Amino acid sequence: MPTAIRDTTVVTSDAARTVHHEAAIVVDGDRIAAIGPTAEIDRRFPHAERVDGRGKAVLPGLVNCHTHLTLTVARGVQEDFGFPSTLRFPTTVQAMLSAEENAVFAMLGALECLRGGNTTMLEISTRVPDYAQLVAGTGLRAVFGQSASDLEPAGIRENRFVYSPALAEKTLRGVDDVISTWHGAEKGRVTCVVAAHAPEACSPELLRAARALAERRDVGTTIHLDQSHWEVESVTKVRGVRPAEYLFQHDFLSPRLVAAHCRFMTPGEVSHLGRSRASVSHNAAMAARRAAAPPIQALAAAGCTIAMGTDNMAHDMLESMRTGLFVERIARQDAERPWPEDVLEWATRNGAAALGLGADVGSLEIGKKADLIVLDARRPHLVPALRIVSAWIHNGQASDVESVMVDGRWLMRDRKVLTIDEADVVTRAEAIGRRVWRELVDRHPNVPFPIRLPSC
Ligand SMILES: [Zn+2]
Repeated sequence: MPTAIRDTTVVTSDAARTVHHEAAIVVDGDRIAAIGPTAEIDRRFPHAERVDGRGKAVLPGLVNCHTHLTLTVARGVQEDFGFPSTLRFPTTVQAMLSAEENAVFAMLGALECLRGGNTTMLEISTRVPDYAQLVAGTGLRAVFGQSASDLEPAGIRENRFVYSPALAEKTLRGVDDVISTWHGAEKGRVTCVVAAHAPEACSPELLRAARALAERRDVGTTIHLDQSHWEVESVTKVRGVRPAEYLFQHDFLSPRLVAAHCRFMTPGEVSHLGRSRASVSHNAAMAARRAAAPPIQALAAAGCTIAMGTDNMAHDMLESMRTGLFVERIARQDAERPWPEDVLEWATRNGAAALGLGADVGSLEIGKKADLIVLDARRPHLVPALRIVSAWIHNGQASDVESVMVDGRWLMRDRKVLTIDEADVVTRAEAIGRRVWRELVDRHPNVPFPIRLPSC
């Protein structure tokens, strides 16, 4: 039976940025069947299940183009130690997690995505198989980017860059396996890309092989790019050119690439990326935490599609949108641009296009997949909700999202998550998180760690 959300505000995020007031949106199966005045929809769909949308707003689900769900384990610590981390432990807490424990943090991240209205995510890690099944089971739309790299980890601390053909072969095989298992799974709700980790971590041979694999499998690619000063210095030292130029030289730039970060780019790099028509995942909140702001206006002017992501530790797309708006206004010295509608476009329609999903998601239009979120527009900080996009992006909270639908299925309804045992995930994540940080610190008593942890 179709479902009609009635008497509501529908923010479409379509090309004309249409907002329908006193409207209804009809979902039939996994797709949007109609959007229009409530009275008309009632006549056309007399047997639809009626959902009261008064005082609410329906928006497209948010598209997150750069996540590391399992790094929620480092939340509350790693945000304040830069990147690469200035903590000098010889290992990381995430490396200390079993596959099962790693999956708990993936589910914690997925919960946060779901609660904040993030319906699609490009999830990147070297351990996707640990948790792919569970994340797919949440009902969220996932793009898995199992990550490849051929830089020998042993030398990194001493700035020695040694690349291993065996490591290239092994990690690319891992990518290929994830694509074999997951690309197109769950009736197309799960797809894959080839993730090459970062310019300093990939030899020219790996970059070319990764691109070839993506072409062979007909999937997109992603990479971290101009993420840190260390990366720029390392690539310049080892390759003699800046990171985007290095990717250009080895044919890794393409319209199907999502380049994450792009923080420290020179005009020459911007030009390379723009001419390739690659997309940029602007991870605005994490960039601001890292004291950086990518040249968004120049990247867009050069031809890049600007999308948004959250990156590590947090998966709050509203925070990323708001930070993106604030930081961009500071950068432009313009109190009026970008508009909240611009930023919402980055986080919806542009994100979907970046992931090759633009025909199906990223806006609320007839025939597209029913990936939508319902905001409670009567919360005090949103009233009067005359222009809900602006009210939400300037003043809203992730918890204003009260319901989430993906593929026509409710994953959260009236703030109750229906596909994840929330209490269980939170309880386990808290216990594991406390234990691994304690273990890391206790195992390395000579490594300075300026945080006093709880005793258990
Ligand atoms: Zn990342």
